[in-house]
Amino acid sequence: MNELNRSELSATADAPSGTNAPDIEGGGILVRVCDVVKQYISGTETLHVLKGLSFEIKRGISAAISGQSGSGKSTLLNILGGLEKADGGQVTVGDAIITDLPEKGLSAYRSRRVGFIFQFHYLLKDFTALENVMLPAYIAGMKKKEALELARALLSDVNLSDRIGHFPSQLSGGERQRVAVARSMINDPDLILADEPTGNLDPDNSAAVAELLYAGAEKRGKTLIVVTHDETVASRASVRFTLENGLLR
Ligand code: ADP
Ligand code: MG
Repeated sequence: MNELNRSELSATADAPSGTNAPDIEGGGILVRVCDVVKQYISGTETLHVLKGLSFEIKRGISAAISGQSGSGKSTLLNILGGLEKADGGQVTVGDAIITDLPEKGLSAYRSRRVGFIFQFHYLLKDFTALENVMLPAYIAGMKKKEALELARALLSDVNLSDRIGHFPSQLSGGERQRVAVARSMINDPDLILADEPTGNLDPDNSAAVAELLYAGAEKRGKTLIVVTHDETVASRASVRFTLENGLLR
């Protein structure tokens, strides 16, 4: 997305639609993680981060994953989001076997089926809040007018209707994360993955952003997985896990 610039956005005709995103269908379970292994090798040392970890998450619920710094929370979330490859085991999201997808399918999965929120907002600095939220949909092929309408509605849900024309530098930390929350939902993903979404915020803003994230996911029937070590944020989830010694409990 970084190669985009503002003039390109206003000049471009509607992008072609259609992706190879795998369909997410199926019963009560959305996410199935079976025996996932991940290690990092540096020099002669092998760091076993995930050691055969298994769990399931039902469609439409929220789950919080806690654990000490360095326990592998981001690694796990990145594997679920198709950003990193597991070294063993299987991850299924709906009917898509993420661990078997070729790069093209993975890229479609990431852009169409998953919404990401990170500790740092990753908003594009040259684009307004409204443009930041609409861009993923526009890039995925939605007509500009529709994408803008949807982005406006999502920004209204995170109480930012009066800030849509602001650039990231003109927003507070909490407001930027609220934009990131709105953006994570624009492509109507089945799964929202949030990695320490309130990690940079003070307690009041943290509580507000977390509430908007949970409420937004609930309103749209999204499955939400939040990595956090904020007890208040974690306690709002319907199920809770702890990552410890490479396993989830
Ligand atoms: P957490 O998010 O729980 O703090 P991470 O998943 O980021 O933990 O990292 C888990 C462990 O793996 C840490 O010890 C980290 O240093 C290590 N690690 C993460 N990414 C890499 C990498 N690309 N290469 C080598 N080690 C890594
Ligand atoms: Mg992390």
